[in-house]
Amino acid sequence: MRRKYVAGNWKMNLTLSEGKALIEGVLAGLPGDCAVDLAVFPPFVYVHPLLGFLKGKLEIGAQNCYFEPSGAFTGEVSPVMLRDVGCHSVIIGHSERRHILGETNGVLKKKVVAALEAGLKVIYCVGEKLDEREAGRTEAVLHGQIHEVLGPDVSLERVTIAYEPVWAIGTGKTATGAQAQEAHAYIRREIGKLYGPGVAESLRIQYGGSVKASNARELMSQPDVDGALVGGASLKADEFVGIIKGAMAAQSGR
Ligand code: PEP
Repeated sequence: MRRKYVAGNWKMNLTLSEGKALIEGVLAGLPGDCAVDLAVFPPFVYVHPLLGFLKGKLEIGAQNCYFEPSGAFTGEVSPVMLRDVGCHSVIIGHSERRHILGETNGVLKKKVVAALEAGLKVIYCVGEKLDEREAGRTEAVLHGQIHEVLGPDVSLERVTIAYEPVWAIGTGKTATGAQAQEAHAYIRREIGKLYGPGVAESLRIQYGGSVKASNARELMSQPDVDGALVGGASLKADEFVGIIKGAMAAQSGR
């Protein structure tokens, strides 16, 4: 059985002291029997101080990285540097990086490979824009994002895929359970074609896009939805704890 995985993407928000207070609030609200995997993804500059602050109670990841280990790439941070400070994982291919910062599938493949080589876990994001969904192109877009980035040359052992329909990110508009399940099942089928049924069955696929405490359980109860990548609601301790409780309920079938 795949264990649910809930991750909070803080994006470019919070000060260090606000981040620490948020994490304290989340840890204080967590049930003692929390049997789901948890991580938060603060801005780069907070990764190292928060690793020291947390002392292993929660995984900490970065929201992006470059694909070279070092060199003349002003402003970039390498996966080797992230591992060096003890960072556990990295988000690659978030829609804001694809659509605001122009990252292509080709660049994202290099980033996934470099992050895995450095020993990081990866959350690789995929998802269609509204016009693509309305034009009936959802599966074609997902196909490109999967097949142009993943494949037998990329081990999925430390990879989670996050399905994040762009029209649902930060909009308050959530995919229905059925819409999420349909896309997740498609992604799992495509992974099966690339890697075989065993890998496809064990791969975790998170849903992301306006997940809140009130819809978390319904979304994560879908058979192919193995967790959530949460933006806005991860900035409020009570909402994030509510989402984690939704994941626990979905996992135990309660
Ligand atoms: C995200 O940033 O990955 C995200 C899903 O944002 P939100 O939950 O705010 O829609």
